Amino acid sequence: MSRDASSGFSPATYQPPLDLLQSRVIIVTGASAGIGRAVALSLARHGATVVLTGRNARKLEAVYDAIVQAGGPKPAYLPLDLENALAQDYDAFAAAIEKEFGRLDGLLHNASILGTRSPIRHHDVPTWCRTLHVNLTAAFALTQVCLPLLEAAPDGSLVFTTSGVGARGRAYWGAYAVSKFGTEGLAEVLAHEYEGTTLRVNLVNPGAVRTGMRALAYPAEDPGKNVLPEAITATYLYLLGPASLGVTGGRFEAQAR
Ligand code: NAP
Repeated sequence: MSRDASSGFSPATYQPPLDLLQSRVIIVTGASAGIGRAVALSLARHGATVVLTGRNARKLEAVYDAIVQAGGPKPAYLPLDLENALAQDYDAFAAAIEKEFGRLDGLLHNASILGTRSPIRHHDVPTWCRTLHVNLTAAFALTQVCLPLLEAAPDGSLVFTTSGVGARGRAYWGAYAVSKFGTEGLAEVLAHEYEGTTLRVNLVNPGAVRTGMRALAYPAEDPGKNVLPEAITATYLYLLGPASLGVTGGRFEAQAR
């Protein structure tokens, strides 16, 4: 049974008001492309001040411009390369948010890399380390520096991104699958640690979505058979908005019907 079964939420029928996220400050990692970009635009359309982060300043600027052009609240963009960031970069990142906004209501961990699809027997070791680092350790490090601000929020929300292969191992998904198992573990540990507080912690599995990562994982697939990132934003809006207050430790399928 899916762990979101008790929340009563259905992405297919959820209709959030346009002011859902008014005055909330929400970080989106990997906001430059794919699902992160679509979710960032949707959060802004629903009133959030979005902190766009990623490794490519030019791509982040384009998302920033799209939000401003659509009339959304002025976002912020703070480049942070999750592969190479050091402790002081994480500290500076959190300090910049505190200085600029004085609050943080939500953090969406969306950035990930696929690494290589390969049997464990032949898995490239540096790629293994890089994938675990970007997908899991960097999310831990960013969460840690953001926790003081999230704890102080009236109803803070931490959202982690998993995958089908993060709940059930599958051949040749190597470090990517293991990083998603780790992500699910990190989210569960945090949800338990923050039980009974105003900070909730949940996981989202986007399902198959038409992005650069999907094309890399399935090069022979017809991309047209998968939904666009814009079609799966409801679950993110729900988890980062007030309707999910008190919902924690869940694993949500973004394409559940
Ligand atoms: P994507 O199109 O490849 O986008 C990944 C994002 O992560 C990009 O913004 C990318 O930045 C960023 N990123 C990669 N390495 C980074 C680094 N070192 N530092 C900072 N940012 C970095 O992938 P997606 O398909 O949208 O995936 C989003 C999330 O959904 C991931 O967690 C993925 O595992 C999960 N997911 C996706 C699918 C699917 O079918 N698409 C299915 C299940 C789970 P650049 O633009 O600079 O590359």
